[in-house]
Amino acid sequence: MGNVYIGWAAALKKMGVEPLVPPRTSKKTLELANKYSPESICLPYKMVLGNFLQAIEKDVDYVAMISSPGICRLGEYGQSIKHVLTEMGHGDKYLELQLYDGFNGMYRFLSEISDGNPVAIVKAINIAIRKMFVLDRIENLFSYYRAREINFGTAEKHYNKALALIIDAGNTKELKQAEKEAIEEIKKTPIDENREVIHVEITGEIFLVQEPFSNQYIEKELGRMGVQTRRTLTVSSFVKDAIIPKAFKKGETHLERAYRMARPYLMRDIGGDALESVSDVAYANERGVDGIIHVSPFTCMPEIMSQNIFPTMRENCEIPILTLIMDEQTGRAGYITRLEAFVDLMKRRKFYKKKKEQEALTK
Ligand code: SF4
Repeated sequence: MGNVYIGWAAALKKMGVEPLVPPRTSKKTLELANKYSPESICLPYKMVLGNFLQAIEKDVDYVAMISSPGICRLGEYGQSIKHVLTEMGHGDKYLELQLYDGFNGMYRFLSEISDGNPVAIVKAINIAIRKMFVLDRIENLFSYYRAREINFGTAEKHYNKALALIIDAGNTKELKQAEKEAIEEIKKTPIDENREVIHVEITGEIFLVQEPFSNQYIEKELGRMGVQTRRTLTVSSFVKDAIIPKAFKKGETHLERAYRMARPYLMRDIGGDALESVSDVAYANERGVDGIIHVSPFTCMPEIMSQNIFPTMRENCEIPILTLIMDEQTGRAGYITRLEAFVDLMKRRKFYKKKKEQEALTK
């Protein structure tokens, strides 16, 4: 799921476990997973299963799946994947990780797969969490530069170098230095500071928001159109809500804000990221963001609910909302056309808004 592997790999290395990072999710991943997946299961399930199968092809000893008591189908993923692997003769490679126990779940998992030294485990969790926060900060900076770069693709080259620096950092001190160097690296991108960019937030189901192959590289495409993006659902916000103990949290978390701002449209958690999606629209509208894009996998139950709430929200929220439902059949040409039309709409809207404001000033 995007760059999550960087944090996990750091934690495993600290515990003396060699992480095997499977190839980036691709068409091949999906083809492999499709052979063993129920047809209508949601896209993230297929991607995760495909990642596991590609890791097994590379002779990995274990794969670990997050289990959840959640309201949506994520609760069944673990058992279903275990079943598939068992049928294929790899059942003994399957491990389960109860991340929804927060810090305790992560601690328990790392103690089970290593010699269980408590100091080493806490250090491992610490470096993983810190890396995830750094990665999200770097992503935002990258997005700023990509929307303004003079030659398309330059920001990405610098970003990839920056990512390598974060991956290499082995402890907190090295990570601090790596973040500084990563920022300097991305800032080497030649940009047009005066370019009028459009600001768009990306919300929806967290896997699709994070994983570029499954969202058809939405942020890259928007960057090409001069759009600066910000993911509202980030790994660090999930970590803050689900892993970091309460005593160490500062300010309102994403989930706390979601409960506050999703009202009166949605009064309770209905699974997945629906509550966050609804509240993200209200929050982006309040801050005058140019637009928001909601991405979700085909057949995702919670996000079908949130998409059905958006029309009601339009009565009170001015912000343009684009909803994109993705599956492996999503055609690229039609998808790009929808993005371009949405960007045009936001540009025109921004232009007329500015014009109105100027007219009001001269009256
Ligand atoms: S949130 Fe949606 S896509 Fe994600 S596991 Fe649940 S039903 Fe599937």
